[in-house]
Amino acid sequence: MKTINTTREMRSAARDLRSQRARLGLVPTMGALHEGHLSLVRAAKAKSDVVAVSIFVNPTQFGPSEDFARYPRNLEKDCELLEREGVEFVFAPTVEEVYPRGAVTWVTVEGLSDRLCGKSRPGHFRGVATVVAKLFNIVEPDVAFFGQKDAAQVAVIKRMVRDLNMAVQIEVCPIVREPDGLALSSRNAYLSPDERKMALVLHASLQRAQKLFNEGERNAAKLAAEAKKAFVWQPAVKLDYLDIVDPDGLEPLETLDQKSLVAVAAFVGNTRLIDNILLEP
Ligand code: AMP
Repeated sequence: MKTINTTREMRSAARDLRSQRARLGLVPTMGALHEGHLSLVRAAKAKSDVVAVSIFVNPTQFGPSEDFARYPRNLEKDCELLEREGVEFVFAPTVEEVYPRGAVTWVTVEGLSDRLCGKSRPGHFRGVATVVAKLFNIVEPDVAFFGQKDAAQVAVIKRMVRDLNMAVQIEVCPIVREPDGLALSSRNAYLSPDERKMALVLHASLQRAQKLFNEGERNAAKLAAEAKKAFVWQPAVKLDYLDIVDPDGLEPLETLDQKSLVAVAAFVGNTRLIDNILLEP
């Protein structure tokens, strides 16, 4: 496995592979890797000839009062995990490498970027779309792998790729959970033992939505109201949103008569967690 820190070296390695007609898979991450990330890596190994994993804590997707500075970073351990998975390249650039001084160019996926997490994290999806576009430009992958865990991110990236005629195939992998249902997240490391228990309320609210849906409820407002009741039992957890939207455009739905995304975000102490499920009639 080769670790690369500069865009120039990454581009040249990717171009070499391209000339050998190897199918290159990219897994973009912010590091602090867990089984959720590794599931993407395994999918990438299965569906490409050569796999590159990027590890970059992207400053532009964090708000000024968010956790950029204290976001968990452990490149050495991440590299050990990736080596074990048989990854060929780790791309771990510095901020200066990714954002040349004076950079003023952004990718904004209008509309979608203001929904779900975009509502409470202004600028977040602009940062995400911009860094993913940069990674695609540097690595030029044939296929890139993203987790359904970040459902709004998936919608934003797919729309960006379509709108900007990018030649990258997007593969979406299912959410990996702890045995008790908590979705794996690098931010789970912030949780105290008490908060870890309280964090289950996100999954519980989604299960409640799933149950009502299975029982035939199709009214989005009623379903959301019922699902939100899970939070009544956990007053220490502050619900940010629980929205039912169309998974592609992230527009709110009134009726669940099509594939529907139930997405939830909440603060457990100071830690903001997200989760979601897809409901299909
Ligand atoms: P991050 O490092 O948080 O930016 O995540 C990198 C990629 O891993 C994103 O595409 C995430 O959606 C994906 N990911 C994170 N957590 C999970 C999970 N629990 N299951 C599946 N994919 C995940």
